[in-house]
Amino acid sequence: MILAELCEPVASVPGIGPRRSEAFLSLGVRTVGDLLCWAPRRYQDRRETLSLAQAAAREEGMVRCRVVAQDHFVARGRRVLKLIVEDGSGRGALLCYGRAALGRAFPVGVDLVAWGQFALRAGEIQASVFELATPMQAADMPPLMPVYPASQALASRTIRAAVRAARRRWESDLEDDLPNLLRSQLSLLHVRDAIAQLHEPESLEHAQRARERLVFGELFVFQLGVTRAALRRRSAARVTRPAATRRLIEPFLTALPFSLTEGQRAAVDAITADLLRPTPMGRLLQGDVGSGKTLVAAIAALHAIERGGQVAFMVPTELLARQHAGRLADQLRPLGIRTALLVGGLAPGVRTALLQAVADGEVDLVIGTHALFSDGVKWSHLSLAIIDEQHRFGVTQRQRLAQRGTHPDILLMSATPIPRSLALTAFGDTDVSSITDRPVGRLPVRTHLTRHEHAERAYDFVHRRLEHGERAYFVYPAIEEGGARELRSAEAMTDRLRDRLAPFRVGLAHSRLSDEERAETMTAFARGDLQVLVATSVIEVGVDVADATCIVIEHAELFGLAALHQLRGRVGRGSRQSWCFLMYREPLTDDARERLKVLYESNDGFHIAEEDLRIRGPGDLEGHRQAGYLDFAFADIRRDMATMIRARELVASTLRDDAALATAANEGLVRALAARDRGCR
Ligand code: ADP
Ligand code: MG
Repeated sequence: MILAELCEPVASVPGIGPRRSEAFLSLGVRTVGDLLCWAPRRYQDRRETLSLAQAAAREEGMVRCRVVAQDHFVARGRRVLKLIVEDGSGRGALLCYGRAALGRAFPVGVDLVAWGQFALRAGEIQASVFELATPMQAADMPPLMPVYPASQALASRTIRAAVRAARRRWESDLEDDLPNLLRSQLSLLHVRDAIAQLHEPESLEHAQRARERLVFGELFVFQLGVTRAALRRRSAARVTRPAATRRLIEPFLTALPFSLTEGQRAAVDAITADLLRPTPMGRLLQGDVGSGKTLVAAIAALHAIERGGQVAFMVPTELLARQHAGRLADQLRPLGIRTALLVGGLAPGVRTALLQAVADGEVDLVIGTHALFSDGVKWSHLSLAIIDEQHRFGVTQRQRLAQRGTHPDILLMSATPIPRSLALTAFGDTDVSSITDRPVGRLPVRTHLTRHEHAERAYDFVHRRLEHGERAYFVYPAIEEGGARELRSAEAMTDRLRDRLAPFRVGLAHSRLSDEERAETMTAFARGDLQVLVATSVIEVGVDVADATCIVIEHAELFGLAALHQLRGRVGRGSRQSWCFLMYREPLTDDARERLKVLYESNDGFHIAEEDLRIRGPGDLEGHRQAGYLDFAFADIRRDMATMIRARELVASTLRDDAALATAANEGLVRALAARDRGCR
């Protein structure tokens, strides 16, 4: 069994029930393989026992002591247990917030080992973040104890227990997917040892070597997938199509109320040239929010349709699919083009009829979510696949698409700029077009940082803009009130804003409404029947209403930088001046303060993306998820770029020797690729 084949759900690990399994899912840990690959954030060093006094002088440490008394105190109305402990050097206190059970486990007179953060506070040595063990349990613990990225619902020690259970059951069966020869050439650990040393290393050097093995393995298999897809694409014979006539493109361009920007024109030229080449296109079109990528995609689609092809246009959300479908249908129907919308929630009858029409070639352009490439969809003559906001889709999802039998041309679009070197390695031999200009007459959005206490001023401002016939978004981090913090929520604020902004009409859109309701609200807002749209971040991606000139983002300190930039990109889409109010509440964390400052000072998506990575740092988990194209378990594409390039070279030589991966030595690799295609990991 190779690591990638451990596809059993985490619930099959002894000790993980339905509730824990839910919690693991929300961390993105679905399978046993995911769990074994859940890398510790760091290790606690348990090799040295400190005195209480020494521990207080350091940030963290392990002490051995005896419970000499139990005491209680009251904090925020709750009784809190306090274990008074002593070692030879002195006395300390363990504050057991919410852990009253420790009183029974460690009565007066017993010895214990405590590991945690000690500090001198209020004249005594205290710890409130700590773990306890009996001396016997402690003797059984590894010298370097893994600390896992955890969540509210799942503590690091729970994850530790789960990982241990999974290792006991599966580790000894693990086979390596990398060929032996390659592994010995590079002096890489066997995957079984790597997993063992990742979770319970003998030393930090061992942990480092484990990571190296796992990063390399991950990047090697990834590059293998990319390179094979690229080779297949390059050797694919295209279906012969009639020459382009411009019979659709000409009238479409003539009917446009504006002319293309330089950047759009250059992108269209590059794409058109690609489409005429003998091998299928693989191109990434990047351009900041509002730079007009959809139009470029529409022209590419017309080109394909003119030549008798079918086009798939995939977007990350239903909201966006509906918007694009509506728009494109309006623009393209007069030209005789047949468009359709394919999303998850269609009525079965509608869906069946639609799939039949697609299979029969009766539809030219299908717009939809990832449902477009689910197994039930058969195309009659798919020739171009457009993927909007590509970073929202996983690496594997994209590769699977590229491997479709017909080898369609592929156009990826993204507002998150990727350095060229990265694009090359991450997407194989993808070409890149960048739109660096904006439609003429666009004014940069003016951004204001507004303290929560000054909210009324922002509301007044928006009210005046509404009186000028403009429209506004209000964005909130939560749908409804509740939780520990007193957050303003979309639902509660909808009512308040109805009063506050009267007589203007206020609609509400969030992810818990049905798709129909949400679509209806969006359409009403786009038409101007509603002047104000209150929303959660569902409007983050791609929504386009040119008359919207104001966006107020409350609790802006809780949103990520990339999300805020996308949200701000919802305004400034017409010729009028637009405004963005980033409303925040003190106290701000340092990171939040920095994020807001970056947005205040810059409108440039490229700069913002760089700053985003700088502020979060490469180790940030949430960061990986958001960045999308960095969705690896171990590798960090920036830190491990050299390994990525090395893996690419070694993939090339592996394929030179065994192009079909037919030798026994490469069997593990074939299985790893197959497991990925099944969507296992
Ligand atoms: P994005 O690149 O963020 O996907 P869109 O494609 O949604 O941007 O375009 C933003 C808006 O700009 C749309 O309303 C579109 O109609 C408009 N637009 C696109 N190209 C031009 C142009 N050359 N001149 C004026 N407006 C344009
Ligand atoms: Mg877009």
